[in-house]
Amino acid sequence: MPMTQAELITCANCQARSEHRVLIVTSCFGWADLDNRPPEPHRRTIGNWVQQCPSCSYCAVDLSKRTGDLTLIGSPMYTRALTNDRLPDLARRFLAQGVLLEPVEPIGGAAVRLQAAWVCDDERAGAQPHGARRKTRSDPASECRLEFIAAVDRAQPIAGESGRILSVARIDALRRTSQFQAAAAGCPVMLALPDLDQDSRLRLELEAKLISQRDIAAHSVEECEGSHERRREHELQARQELEASREAQRANQAPVQTGNRQTGEPPRSGTSQQGRDEQEFLEAIARRQAGEPEIGGWNQPSSQAANHRNRSKATPGATSRQAQADEYDQRPEWELRQIFETND
Ligand SMILES: [Zn+2]
Repeated sequence: MPMTQAELITCANCQARSEHRVLIVTSCFGWADLDNRPPEPHRRTIGNWVQQCPSCSYCAVDLSKRTGDLTLIGSPMYTRALTNDRLPDLARRFLAQGVLLEPVEPIGGAAVRLQAAWVCDDERAGAQPHGARRKTRSDPASECRLEFIAAVDRAQPIAGESGRILSVARIDALRRTSQFQAAAAGCPVMLALPDLDQDSRLRLELEAKLISQRDIAAHSVEECEGSHERRREHELQARQELEASREAQRANQAPVQTGNRQTGEPPRSGTSQQGRDEQEFLEAIARRQAGEPEIGGWNQPSSQAANHRNRSKATPGATSRQAQADEYDQRPEWELRQIFETND
């Protein structure tokens, strides 16, 4: 389960101190949405992904760090984002954060706008009974998605994996805002890319189907063609790599420490190897979901990743696992998640 703790944080902009709930541990089970929204329970921690200084209104993942162009705090664009009374407070903070990030970190600046849309999705789901969720392009979630699409377009060209993931999420946002023609036009362009990875290809094929059906709902990666078969293939590969990792660990005689990361409680004598593996995977997944700039983590600025990694290193038992955790960090988040679930 995700864990948070209250911390007094000094604002890097105005030096005022204020208390915030900081995410310490998190995890993911299941499948992400097509726009890369992480699954539960990490999904429900979204309220801990952005802090706002009550004194100067600075919005950031970690107020103690200067992230983005802070000279824009108080600018008309920044103020407009924070005072947009059509949106929930949390969504406003993400949009304001996007204003600061965009000049310095365009990908992060776009991604937080999508997070604002997720906040609005949740509010809508909570406010209306199932079946009454008809969207228009003027609803709060669509307003944020339109901002996301515009920010992605301003950030272009984006090379590499981040660009590919953002482009798929952009097509999803077009579909969810009923811009079916533009969404449909984007799919074949991306599908024609010679180096397109299989994960993106399957997401795009599902997007094309949903677009043809005029479907504007959220959908899971689990619905992609062959997703369960691919999971089994990766399970097999992951198990082989896990065995190799164990062998290497035994050869190096590097003891793995476990225990309660929050209290520093020592490992229990009865902790099984499988239990330790699960802990390893859980931590690797948590770090990635907390902001690795790759699959599953691209949607949070790299500054958040750094913040989370620093906290992770400060916890008991984390250092001895660093080498193996670094290795896991090189693997796609969904793959790690599947490994963990296999061991669950
Ligand atoms: Zn401040």
